[in-house]
Amino acid sequence: MKTTASGTTLFQLTQLGAINCYLVREDDGFTLIDTASSGQAQPIIQAAAKLGLPIVRIVLTHAHSDHVGSLDALHAALPTAQVAISERDARFLTGDQSLDPSEPQTRLHGGYPICQTKPTLLLHEGDRIGSLEVIATPGHTPGHISFLDTRNRSLIVGDAFQTLGGVAVAGTIKPLFPLPALATWNKDLCLASARKLLALQPSVLSVGHGRMLNQPQAAMERAIHILERALAHEHEHEHEHEERKASHVA
Ligand SMILES: [Zn+2]
Repeated sequence: MKTTASGTTLFQLTQLGAINCYLVREDDGFTLIDTASSGQAQPIIQAAAKLGLPIVRIVLTHAHSDHVGSLDALHAALPTAQVAISERDARFLTGDQSLDPSEPQTRLHGGYPICQTKPTLLLHEGDRIGSLEVIATPGHTPGHISFLDTRNRSLIVGDAFQTLGGVAVAGTIKPLFPLPALATWNKDLCLASARKLLALQPSVLSVGHGRMLNQPQAAMERAIHILERALAHEHEHEHEHEERKASHVA
């Protein structure tokens, strides 16, 4: 895996030029954010060893296969490391793909593999795990979360944004790398979550797919406007469709 540093506390590990996970340096070792696809446990452990610290925590932004793929192998190799995910996306790890009645009933997309590993900690908005604050950012998946490093405001957002093929909010199709958009559950929630992330005034945007971006706020704002316009257009069409249906009935 390719290792790219951002300052002295954040390291991006990249599989096949397209799939990222992150090591965040803490006093007691590394927190690993996401686990890439399957087969990456040893490369991830080796990357951490090369940087001189063990992995003591594994946290997950969401339950898609390119983020939890090496979870079971990592847990087997690092059985004492804490494993944390949002309470909502933890359900996917058990094979439960039901939606709650309170959630938008849009269809789930993307792969949600069953994992043998049981999380040791279920995360919620505002929780702290080491230096990281949990930010609830539903939309790409129902329980998607992001992490704000409170030491330097670097933000690790999983698939809430992407930068590969251009900066985009989850749900906006980027022809050069459309996968995150195609795996997205609910675009309206993605938009609300993207606004919430921008309001945190991040110093670095670190995504699941694509390079890290320094001083990302202008690019995030542009990406938000693009999805806003696309959704306004979609909703207008839905509205017209509803009206046509209603006039037919009348
Ligand atoms: Zn995803």
